[in-house]
Amino acid sequence: MLKNLDSNNQILFSGVSKDYSLKDVALIDVSFSVASGEFVSLIGASGSGKSTILKLIAGLEEPSSGKITKPEIVSLAFQGAALFPWLTVYDNIALGLRARGADEHEVAKQVSKYSNMLGLQDHLLKLPSELSGGQKQRVGIARALAIEPEVLLLDEPFSALDPKTTAELHDDIIKLWRETKKTIVMVSHLIEEAVSLSEKVILIKNHGVAGTYDITMPYPRREQEVEFSRDVLKIRREFFK
Ligand code: ADP
Ligand code: MG
Repeated sequence: MLKNLDSNNQILFSGVSKDYSLKDVALIDVSFSVASGEFVSLIGASGSGKSTILKLIAGLEEPSSGKITKPEIVSLAFQGAALFPWLTVYDNIALGLRARGADEHEVAKQVSKYSNMLGLQDHLLKLPSELSGGQKQRVGIARALAIEPEVLLLDEPFSALDPKTTAELHDDIIKLWRETKKTIVMVSHLIEEAVSLSEKVILIKNHGVAGTYDITMPYPRREQEVEFSRDVLKIRREFFK
């Protein structure tokens, strides 16, 4: 695939397979690329291997075979935010920075930058139990961004949220992506969500890539527009085939 030789590719999977054990196959011969600054979504049924792809990009798992090119600093915001309940919002956001040995001046600067961007500035001294679901998810995203990763990985970041909160977070993610110009790879199980947010959608089926779709609709994309778009119809057809 000539396209994969493009030097602009920040992430490149070439024939990547992953099995956790003899009977736990997660990925079979997966190839795709992500350009620097691109917003890519991975969609597919539960168990198809989406989270495994993110873990491989994050370096939390190693491939069984094949080759992965990826940048050094990558952050993963986990499904359900995975906050530490005994730490304040401030300390949760600061976690990754402190783990990397950042001084408190740097920590304060980064926490302020991303708590402002995600509308958390008035909640910094609260504990996670005092936050709404949407706010918790925002803290998880702020924590992931605080270390200034080259790539932000989001694993079903909206799956536990109500529709209104989800819509608000969608808008904020797009704003954040535009402001930071960071590469985003997001896992979703909703075709409409993937099409409304990303420039490229990769469909994972039977542990492999079943299709790659460039979404060229201009932003902001309205719900109605997305729902009845050709992109959604095309992907849906392949998804359920
Ligand atoms: P998805 O995120 O699309 O739901 P996953 O990547 O989590 O899929 O999982 C893909 C497959 O790999 C599933 O069959 C799952 O059971 C298996 N799997 C994932 N993580 C592990 C693990 N740590 N050990 C064994 N099997 C795993
Ligand atoms: Mg998953």
